[in-house]
Amino acid sequence: MILVTRQGITEEELDHIRERVESLGLRTHVSRGETLTVVGCIGDEERLQHVPLLSIPGVVAAHPVMKPYKLASREFAADPTRIPLGEVEVGGRGVVVVAGPCSVEGGDMLRETAARVRAAGAHGIRGGAFKPRSSPYSFQGMGQPGLELLVDVRDTHGLPVVTEVMDTRQVELVAGYADVLQIGTRNMQNFNLLTEVGRVQRPVLLKRGMSATIKDLLMSAEYIMQQGNSQVILCERGIRTFETATRNTFDLAAIPVLKRETHLPVIADPSHAGGRRDLVAPLAFAAIAAGADGLLVEVHPDPEAAWSDGDQSLDFAEFERLMGQLAPFAEAAGRKVAPL
Ligand code: PEP
Ligand code: MN
Repeated sequence: MILVTRQGITEEELDHIRERVESLGLRTHVSRGETLTVVGCIGDEERLQHVPLLSIPGVVAAHPVMKPYKLASREFAADPTRIPLGEVEVGGRGVVVVAGPCSVEGGDMLRETAARVRAAGAHGIRGGAFKPRSSPYSFQGMGQPGLELLVDVRDTHGLPVVTEVMDTRQVELVAGYADVLQIGTRNMQNFNLLTEVGRVQRPVLLKRGMSATIKDLLMSAEYIMQQGNSQVILCERGIRTFETATRNTFDLAAIPVLKRETHLPVIADPSHAGGRRDLVAPLAFAAIAAGADGLLVEVHPDPEAAWSDGDQSLDFAEFERLMGQLAPFAEAAGRKVAPL
């Protein structure tokens, strides 16, 4: 149940509302917006069925939440959630771009990539130190030395680090280096991992499972939030369908659907969605025009030599061109690319 309170509600009235609800065995969560304050009630909604909620002083409306995700639902927060990323925010008016290699392969390539994506206007650096690979014989990532390299370029270029955590046993380690913990598509329903990242106060970039519905994605966000970490960024990265012309099928509609369903920021990964470098720009444009709050883009100094995902990685010139072309799409969506 979501209780909407009157404008100018007093702290005493809010306390009283919370006490009433909590005395019935539910938990409460207060969200204060610019004009509105709402009280979310978490727990068995049945218990509120016969309570005259509108008679509690300060309550002006009561909306039952039938959706299985509550903390993530749009109604639960008075305003869209904004998540700080270095100098900018994901979920604000500015469209944010995080770019970098699929995997951290070494110091030189990472430093070069960081310098070039920063100069082109990127707001964060991505790169996997722990890589979820379909084959156990493929490069599995550099591990901790890769994390150290990422922190190094963050310090040099002021680029916050987005990197994947694959295992509950690595959460503490990765959280010691990363600014944003990425949960990959293969782990979207690793509920133990979701619970663990929910316990650390680090933003989480939650990628949609390749066979997950939008509801599944939101339920996974709920797992993280339920542990007390409400800083979740959702990422549409393509899903598996019968189509074989692209690596995945980019679910463009998921972006406006998610923006309607949740207050959490939504970004798009056009690299994994299309699986081909020539598709990155058109998918990025479409995502921004559809309301995405940002992009996650794979960039490599020499895609041909990349140890993973070279086919979908942009080289520096392609990334610079992409950045130079984003503005009209952001404008079409009533946004702008976040200035550095
Ligand atoms: C990645 O970002 O490099 C990655 C492995 O992504 P996904 O989990 O979406 O496949
Ligand atoms: Mn990749």
